[in-house]
Amino acid sequence: MARVAQVIVDVPTMQTNHPYSYEVPDKWSDIVQPGMRVVVPFGNGHRNVQGFVVNIDQPTHYQGQLRPLGSLMDMEPVINEELLKLSQWMADDTYSFWISCLYAMIPAALKGKTRRIVRIVDEVSEKDAEEIFHNLDEIDFSEVAANPEIVQRIRQLRRQKKVVFEYQVENQAHAKKITGIKPVLDFGRYEDERQGIAKNAHAQNRLISYLQSLNGSTVAQQKAEKQTGLSAATFRLGEKRGWLQKVQIETYRRPGGKIPNDKELTKPLHLNEEQQKAFDAISQAIQDGDTKPFLLEGVTGSGKTEVYMQSIAKALEQGKTALMLVPEISLTPQMVHQLRGRFGHRVAILHSSLSRGERYDEWRRIERGEAQVVVGARSAIFAPLHHLGLIIIDEEHEPNYKQEDTPRYQARRVAKWRGQYNQAVVVLGSATPSLESRSRAHVGVYHLLRMRHRVNHHPLPRTEIVDMRPVVQREGETDFSPRLISLLADRLQKGEQSILMLNRRGFSSFVMCRDCGFVLKCSNCDISLTLHMASHTMRCHYCGHEEPIPRICPHCHGHKIRYYGTGTEKVATQLERLLPQARVIRMDVDTTRRKGMHERLLKEFGEHKADILLGTQMIAKGLDFPNVTLVGVLNADTGLDLPDFRASEHTFDLLAQVSGRAGRADKAGYVVIQTFNPTNYAIELAQAHDYERFFATEMNLRYRAGYPPYYYAVKLMASHEDQAVALRAINKIAKQLQTNLAPSTVVLGPSPRPIARMKRRYYYQIVIKYKNDPVLHQLLTEVLNTNQQKNFRDVQITIDPDPQYFM
Ligand code: ADP
Ligand code: ZN
Repeated sequence: MARVAQVIVDVPTMQTNHPYSYEVPDKWSDIVQPGMRVVVPFGNGHRNVQGFVVNIDQPTHYQGQLRPLGSLMDMEPVINEELLKLSQWMADDTYSFWISCLYAMIPAALKGKTRRIVRIVDEVSEKDAEEIFHNLDEIDFSEVAANPEIVQRIRQLRRQKKVVFEYQVENQAHAKKITGIKPVLDFGRYEDERQGIAKNAHAQNRLISYLQSLNGSTVAQQKAEKQTGLSAATFRLGEKRGWLQKVQIETYRRPGGKIPNDKELTKPLHLNEEQQKAFDAISQAIQDGDTKPFLLEGVTGSGKTEVYMQSIAKALEQGKTALMLVPEISLTPQMVHQLRGRFGHRVAILHSSLSRGERYDEWRRIERGEAQVVVGARSAIFAPLHHLGLIIIDEEHEPNYKQEDTPRYQARRVAKWRGQYNQAVVVLGSATPSLESRSRAHVGVYHLLRMRHRVNHHPLPRTEIVDMRPVVQREGETDFSPRLISLLADRLQKGEQSILMLNRRGFSSFVMCRDCGFVLKCSNCDISLTLHMASHTMRCHYCGHEEPIPRICPHCHGHKIRYYGTGTEKVATQLERLLPQARVIRMDVDTTRRKGMHERLLKEFGEHKADILLGTQMIAKGLDFPNVTLVGVLNADTGLDLPDFRASEHTFDLLAQVSGRAGRADKAGYVVIQTFNPTNYAIELAQAHDYERFFATEMNLRYRAGYPPYYYAVKLMASHEDQAVALRAINKIAKQLQTNLAPSTVVLGPSPRPIARMKRRYYYQIVIKYKNDPVLHQLLTEVLNTNQQKNFRDVQITIDPDPQYFM
């Protein structure tokens, strides 16, 4: 009896987490394994789709007619046993489809490309055969799709049942191959051959000697040519004579940068006392397989990286592997440089700005055990490392670790799962830990390790707060205080550099009084209201409350209440007027869209080709320019006043981080924060570099307002092209939830989403806050599955298990 494969299929319109059963043809019964990609027929038509085998059943007494697997795309699983289990858990945990979790784990090259083929199945006219099909049996539909006349004729042929549409899945994973030279004779036989050629055939003689020297091993032809100085023609002759074989050898595309060899590797530094303590604790845990995570809270410059690297070395020593996540691509070059410097070829890099081929090749080096240390951005958490012993998440507070698209996973959470599975140690590192992590450490769920001092004992930079309210009263609309301009001019004159950050978190606009800094807030939610230009109202994105746009400030009765929002381009123009002699590099999404621009601009700034680096948040992290002595934050408020309960936390983190950019080397650093809210606690405590007090203050506020981490939150969204349908769906879901949830659970909404209409769809949302609700998960899973049923047709429902924002 044939075996049965359970397959998760890739059909976007028919998303489901249930595998489909296919018969395994006998010829493959010993080959097919869970984790392999396959092509299977699906639906009624001639449709082939890609899928993943997730299970192989023993021969069953299945009664009905099973269709056989179409073809195998792999000879070995691309998803190993651990990741297969993880994908299933993740689909459930993040309310996403299993197929999207599987795809999240493998390089894009392994996502099969679907081609739509038009194939002739019955006699067509000569004219059609020639004009449409160029006298072939089939064509790729995409080649003619743009030609309406041809499309029309194809449609007609289809109605006449003379042609069919077929879907073919094309494997996009291509290993790079180069030509190799393989000696095929033994030493003595080569000597025999030598007798057969003329004494003065020097090239051939040399070739034979060379082949003998290889001792049977294969070399790249290019290398062989270089080593011997022999021509390609000589090697061709050798092949013809049967002295050698040409073979294809697989090579890896390696991402840029020099990889040091074993002799050039950096030596571990002698740790200071705080570092030693942290390292000892982590090291012991690696040895014991202790899976309780560590929170390493260390001020900027306390030497966390060295602790990470020595911990990685410890894991390697124990025959294990290590994984390190960094929040952003722009940070990776420096980290990659350091890790490669210490671990050389054992390091693999995974992030999205690699080319598809590079990514696939790095992934294979990991899968094959040739790289034992992985550094990368969020999705590197799925690196197929075996014997994982250590997972490090640097800057663990970064919102980037949460994927905002399906599957909406939080890399920290996945790290803990893998830690448990592998008995590996998880280390979360930050100067400003997330409230979630810090509170877990507080109650003993995590080990807390603290490093309070900078390695070089330099103090953290002095920070000055500039109150912008009197400035705009005196000078009208401006993004620059005279104080900041005079400091910039001073640095310019000394030949020192400055960094200016324009805080542009979020995309919505709010209304603020320029006299008193007052921001209109929701009466129910203590969260700022968002300006909706379309409806001319202020709206709460949290509970749906709405009110008119105020004309005078409700607080000071001033008339300078206005729409707030600014852009780097506008600021750059102002700067040009105020400091015409300054050379400015502008860095934002517009100027860094092209690949490699980010690195290039930073390199130019590093070479002092500009005096001022002006940018958005992207310049706050990790930059290390010794000549930078001044950091200016143009508007600390933009982040603060977003309708977001994490706004203060993000503002504090951002200010702490950007402050760390000043005075890295011997020259002391200075930081200026411009704000309309100079007495706001997040800004004042950032000025004082006081994380602990910020933590205590913010936790208190969260407690009183019932926000995370005191509550968990889930956000549910429904969207449809027709507003009424979307609204009906969300109301129905709300009713379904309300009657079944635990009494302590709070349901907020339904309310329209801030950008209520996106891509021609209307969005409504519900936010659920809960502490302990045994039925919620099951209930939400059911809600998600109802989405597949007819009465909810075309309504898209998404559930975010850990929303970063409630808007
Ligand atoms: P963090 O990541 O905590 O902000 P870094 O890892 O960037 O700090 O370390 C700051 C600087 O201190 C780096 O230049 C690093 O090389 C150096 N450093 C770290 N540990 C030591 C040590 N034990 N001895 C000497 N220098 C060190
Ligand atoms: Zn509200």
